[in-house]
Amino acid sequence: MDILVCGGAGFIGSAFIRNYLGSTDDSKITNLDSLTIGSNLKNLKDIEHNPNYKFIKDDIRNESIIDELIKNSDIVINFAAESHVDRSIANPKPFIETNIFGTFTILEAIRKHDKQFVHVSTDEVYGDAQDKISFNEDSQVNPSNPYAATKAATDHLVSSYYRTYGINCITTRCTNNFGPYQFPEKLIPKTIIRTIKNLKVPLYGNGNQIRSWIHVNDHVEAIKYLISKGQPGQVYNITAYEEITNKTIVEKILKILEKSNEMIEYVTDRPGHDKRYSIDCSKIENQIGWRPKYNFDDALKQTVYWYVNNQSWWEPLVNENTLHPQPWTLSWK
Ligand code: NAD
Repeated sequence: MDILVCGGAGFIGSAFIRNYLGSTDDSKITNLDSLTIGSNLKNLKDIEHNPNYKFIKDDIRNESIIDELIKNSDIVINFAAESHVDRSIANPKPFIETNIFGTFTILEAIRKHDKQFVHVSTDEVYGDAQDKISFNEDSQVNPSNPYAATKAATDHLVSSYYRTYGINCITTRCTNNFGPYQFPEKLIPKTIIRTIKNLKVPLYGNGNQIRSWIHVNDHVEAIKYLISKGQPGQVYNITAYEEITNKTIVEKILKILEKSNEMIEYVTDRPGHDKRYSIDCSKIENQIGWRPKYNFDDALKQTVYWYVNNQSWWEPLVNENTLHPQPWTLSWK
């Protein structure tokens, strides 16, 4: 099988490529990535010389290259996106351009060449979940920030291409991922790195926002299941059911690193901050047979130790912006 992975130099895309090439001999992966913020080719150094792997530095909005690559692939998995909520609050424009126009560019080539498409979306499209309610795939989307709104827009675009043109597509909506190689500006790596550096750890608002978490390898496995067993036109939620407050996560990390909770500094809440995310993933469990394997506390501990032992990976990526306590107050270009 010839697979085109878009955005494979980022956190989840690179985990997918490492996993996929490590588990098959007869598939080829082409990774197209424009190497923007969040990307890092060092994530792929273990497989960069694999004969079944090829990297192309380009943009998903480049119609001619996308057309050519999709023509020569069996399946496209799109991880490429502007992905950081705080950046979308500071400057939404790149999110509109990459997430919406980039997905549109891919969809046009998918329908022209009649190939399979996996659209990697997010649970953030559903917005806030009230107490005791979990969203399923039929729930209404109600995004709260520009990032989530662009992902919701592309979910609609993908489903319209299924209805109108009958393309072979699957949409995934996964919860917050964590694990090795995650860019330092996201909550878990940022908390670990600031703690290692003996800096105060910022928590938005009262820290009681609830998120559910999944180890990145469980997410990647779910996508692999869906490539072979997913039904065209369907949306699949993916979660590991680990609902936990941001405050509890930070306290767990401080405990693993043997630091006191006095390291926490409460800062002004993120505008539009969703209080709780909660999704139900019984569809992928019952219809596809996927189940998450990682235990949250063990995986969090392994992730903390990975950052402790891989300072040379993250140190060059860390600057004032990536570790800023309230990044949306910065004007990113
Ligand atoms: P990431 O920011 O680490 O990686 C995104 C990659 O896309 C980067 O390598 C970047 O260079 C590339 N990219 C950006 N714009 C591009 C463009 N115009 N053309 C080509 N490449 C481009 O993000 P991630 O955390 O790995 O997320 C991957 C996907 O998964 C995103 O679509 C995101 O919405 C979705 N997702 C993420 C999470 C999470 O917790 N991280 C959860 C659910 C869904």
